[in-house]
Amino acid sequence: MNAPLKNSIAALVPELTEWRHDFHRFPELQYELGRTAALVAKRLRDFGFDEVHEGIGKTGVVGLLHGASGAAADEDKRVLLRADMDALPILEMGATDHVSENKGCMHACGHDGHTTLLLGAAKHLSETRDFDGTLVFCFQPAEEGGAGAQAMIDDGLFERFPVKGVYGLHNWPSMPIGHFGLARGPAMASADRVDITVKGYGGHGAMPHRARDPIIAAAEIVLAAQTIVSRVVDPLEPAVLSITSINAGHAYNVIPDSVVMRAGFRAFSEEVAKLIEAELRRICAGVGAAHGMEVVISRPDGSPPYPPTVNHPAETEIALGAMRAVAGPEQVRDDVKPVMGSEDFSFMLRRVPGAYIFIGNGDTAPVHHPKYDFNDQAIPYGVAYWVEIARRTLPR
Ligand SMILES: [Zn+2]
Ligand SMILES: [Zn+2]
Repeated sequence: MNAPLKNSIAALVPELTEWRHDFHRFPELQYELGRTAALVAKRLRDFGFDEVHEGIGKTGVVGLLHGASGAAADEDKRVLLRADMDALPILEMGATDHVSENKGCMHACGHDGHTTLLLGAAKHLSETRDFDGTLVFCFQPAEEGGAGAQAMIDDGLFERFPVKGVYGLHNWPSMPIGHFGLARGPAMASADRVDITVKGYGGHGAMPHRARDPIIAAAEIVLAAQTIVSRVVDPLEPAVLSITSINAGHAYNVIPDSVVMRAGFRAFSEEVAKLIEAELRRICAGVGAAHGMEVVISRPDGSPPYPPTVNHPAETEIALGAMRAVAGPEQVRDDVKPVMGSEDFSFMLRRVPGAYIFIGNGDTAPVHHPKYDFNDQAIPYGVAYWVEIARRTLPR
């Protein structure tokens, strides 16, 4: 990182740390981001942003910042930088002075940090305007299972603000502070959730011949489903399918009417995810037919399955260049192992080329742990990364 940039970002860190702690004390869930989104929009206006739009995808915020020579003429001069703003339904067990004041809700994934990093870059770049074109600062709701990125896309994000590239990041506990990493190609898996309802016919436990026992069929489905990954999916394609919940009955002498199961499955390509779903449906229909009962597969709510998060080659090189400029080449890995977790930035990467990187969070508890806390020492590195991305994608 060059010295003037380092100094001017270092000067922002105390204020950014205060903002981060404030977001941490007042976490909000999913789309219910009234306080957080209003604060983000207010700050962007305070920075003198050219446009600030609220309520995109319910509570998403988009701020436009034009470079030194004014607004971009077309999408070749526009780039989107994205942060997520939502927290998790977890009771915080940490002992910091900025512990959550919203009991049962906490920033356990560091989205308070992500929002702060992007606000830091927004502040710095609004002062320097050291780029040519328009930066689209995107603050999204509901990353944690609510498909907030897709909600913003459905609300016309890319039609209203067409861009040539999209960039996202996530903090990574266990990766040292001042280090960065990225996975070439697939970085995170798809995530799909389904409910499986086995509709039998209840009755007396002593008279199974007068009933249709859905528990037997459910047990066969659980076992048969395990052959999808082991026998159907190409062994060289990573995939996982887990039946994570089985619910039926409560008495010793009653055969229940139905069984409801929950299943989750993940893969690194949409083709494999589709194959798993098709096989699961075939198995459920077949086992159901064998036992003379209907088996229904449904999605639990309105949120669509998350696609895999796949980095694009050219934007991967841009992101690597930015990370190396900030941290030095030895502190940047381009071979991070993909993880089976998922990330809704995937919806944006499916529409527009881009890159998703990891920034070291040091020796903290893992994300989604009740003692997790975003590491403030990562702030200058994260802000500098965003500034480098702006300069490299929209050079003057
Ligand atoms: Zn998370
Ligand atoms: Zn997260």
